[in-house]
Parts: sequence; structure tokens; C-alpha cells
Amino acid sequence: MNVARIVFAPLSITGWGALQQLVPEVSKFSPKKILVVTDPALVKIGLAERVTESLRQNGFAVEVYTEVVPEPPLEIGEKLVQFARGNRFDLVIGLGGGSALDLAKLAAVMAVHEGSVADYLNLTGKKQITQKALPKILIPTTSGTGSEVTNIAVLSLETTKDVVTHDSLLADVAIVDPELTVSVPPRVTAATGIDALTHAVEAYVSVNANPATDALALQAVRLIARSLRTAVQEGSSRQARTDMSMGSYLAGLAFFNAGVAGVHALAYPLGGQFHLSHGESNAVLLPYVMGYIRHSCQKRLADLLDYLGGASHLLSEEEASYRCVEQLVSIVRDVGIPQTLADFQIPQSALESLTQDGIKQKRLLARSPMPLGEDDIRTIYRAAYNGK
Ligand code: NAD
Repeated sequence: MNVARIVFAPLSITGWGALQQLVPEVSKFSPKKILVVTDPALVKIGLAERVTESLRQNGFAVEVYTEVVPEPPLEIGEKLVQFARGNRFDLVIGLGGGSALDLAKLAAVMAVHEGSVADYLNLTGKKQITQKALPKILIPTTSGTGSEVTNIAVLSLETTKDVVTHDSLLADVAIVDPELTVSVPPRVTAATGIDALTHAVEAYVSVNANPATDALALQAVRLIARSLRTAVQEGSSRQARTDMSMGSYLAGLAFFNAGVAGVHALAYPLGGQFHLSHGESNAVLLPYVMGYIRHSCQKRLADLLDYLGGASHLLSEEEASYRCVEQLVSIVRDVGIPQTLADFQIPQSALESLTQDGIKQKRLLARSPMPLGEDDIRTIYRAAYNGK
């Protein structure tokens, strides 16, 4: 076995009603001024106020920053950082989907660093993160990204996405309360749920997988496969929302430690060039990437079949891995996500520029069990376009 570095966020509080632990956790930091980074949708439904009022009633000074947009562009990150630097906060709370949580992480780190966010981007930045960030508490309101337990913040650039990544971005406390996800609309539930499934599947087949990440990934696949369809169709189901919250959280821990690979490498250009949501980009590519690399990780995909609701015991490894990919196709279809790039109105003429941006994601591609070069990436995009 390779040497494995396994990092879990220091403290996680999970389960229905976990949000009630926010004030006691905040108190431990004795903050003088708290920055809450949240999403306008959560202001609209009253969830942001529920959080800020509970803090104010307990005597904490709170400023709320709501200029969060889905798949945040770099400029939104730069603007928030200026705001954070100008205000001497000593605790940051992120409340929202991955977009709000990633921005909260950036604010907490960049408040104690010089220069622009662009200076710290993985692909093109020249500066290194060196300082411990402001303390941060992350509260996800979607079940998808796992951002509450990863050391990554993702930003949209002109034609692709890039990340700032360092352990300084890790939460001090993650509060994972499925109740907060009940209001997520079906389309977002579907896309974010497949995002979480992709994290677990890619972590399980990653070249960096190890027994600890396997345990997390397999349990995540089991919870997501049994509950995503219900969460989409019956958003108020406490059981389904709880499974999805835990599935997303476990998948986050799995992929943070084992990495994601080809699906994400090809999804980033789709998000960058065509503004597909992160979840939908992953969802449309997941079956095609897994189908293409299947023979390089046949045993692993055969294992996954049982956790996806199938039965592998009477099948050859080859047959079970094939059925695993079929299960992925059916779950994406059942939650109502379009099955091809053409269905998403991506023009065929864009496949070459997608390929050229996909090949740049070397950090992600390095975790694929099958090396993926330019021709492989082009072939996968073509298959995802044509649906075969
Ligand atoms: P999101 O945060 O963009 O939210 C999607 C939509 O759902 C938004 O319109 C938002 O307003 C709405 N929403 C969120 N919570 C809601 C609720 N409780 N009720 C009603 N509406 C709600 O979506 P996401 O998929 O969670 O995050 C995507 C971002 O996260 C992307 O930028 C992606 O690249 C990034 N990401 C980060 C990591 C990481 O480890 N940091 C991992 C994967 C993806």
C-alpha cells in the first residue's frame, strides 16, 4: 500500500437539527466580529436570518455578505476578499451550497494574505498560502460538493475553472444538518446529488484510494444510490435528505483524501465555457468517463455495483463492471438530468476547445486509473455528445 495522508476536518456535527449547535460552537472562538457569507436564495427563504438572529441574540456582532452567485467567478472572490480585509473579522461562517462555502473559505484565508486571489490559483498563480486562516464554520445547505470538509475553493474563469487549495482552507467546524436542504428544488437536488455520487465513485477508483477512503466512498455510494431518487421526487422526506447529507459529507471526505479525476477534469471546461452547473457537468460525463476507463478499474467498478443497488455475486468481473456503468446511466436518467452534451445544447464545434481545456487539468487527470491523454479526452467528449 502507498503511504496515505488522511485529513479529516477537526470537528463535524451532523444530523437533523445539528444547526442548534452553532451558537455553542461560535462561543468557543469568543469572536468580536463575525462575517457570514451566504447566498441570496437563503436570505429569501429566511434561513440566513434564522442563523444571524440566533447569533445576535447571543450578543455576537455579525455582518452578512450576500453577493454570492452559483459557480462564483474569480471577480466575485476578489470583491469579497476586499470586503473581508477592510472589516477586521475574527470568525467566518459559510452558509449555503458549495458556492457560498468556497467563498467563505477564501475570505478566511485571504484576509490574512497579501495579493489577489488570482495570485494563489492552482494552474496560474505564483504565490503560496503560508498563514493560518481566520477560524471558519461551514454549514452546507445542499447535498453535493462536500466543501465543508475539503481544503479547496473552486472559482470560474473565462473558459474553465481553477482552485485555490491548501489545508488553511479547511473548516474548524462543519455543521451538516439535513433539515437545511429540504428547500432545495428538485433540479438542484438532482445535480448536487450526482455531484456527490461522482465524488464517491471517482475517489473509489482513484489511484490514491486507500482503505480509509474506500470505507467512506462505499458508504457514500450506498446512501446516495438508495435515496437520491426520493430526495428529488419528495423533497420533504427526512430519511432521503438525511441520507443525502451524510452521503455528500462522506463523499467529500473520500475525495478530499483520494482525489477526483477524469470526470471533474472534463466537467470544469463545460462549466467554464457553457456555465453548466458543477453537478450537471459531472452528471452528463460520469457514465461516459466510467464507461471509457472501465477496463482499467474493472474490479473496483464491480465492487461498486452492490452499493449502487445491483448484485454482482453471480457475474464475472467484466459483466459486473458493465452493469455498474449501466446503474450510473439509470440513476442520472431517473433524476431527470439530460443524458448527452447535445441535450444540453452544447454545439459539436465546441468539442475541440473543451478538449484543449480538459487536457490542462493535469492535477485531476493524474488520479485517473487509466492515463487520459488528448485523444482519450476528445473521444470521451464525442461519446458524451453523441450518447454512445
Ligand atoms: P450552489 O452553491 O451554486 O447552489 C446552487 C443553487 O441552489 C443556488 O441557486 C442556490 O441559491 C440554491 N440553494 C442552495 N441551498 C439552497 C437551499 N437550502 N434551498 C434552496 N435553494 C438553495 O451549488 P453547489 O453545487 O452546492 O456548489 C457548486 C460550487 O461548488 C461550484 O462552484 C463548484 O465548482 C464548487 N465545488 C466545490 C468543491 C469543494 O470541495 N470546495 C467541490 C465540488 C464543487
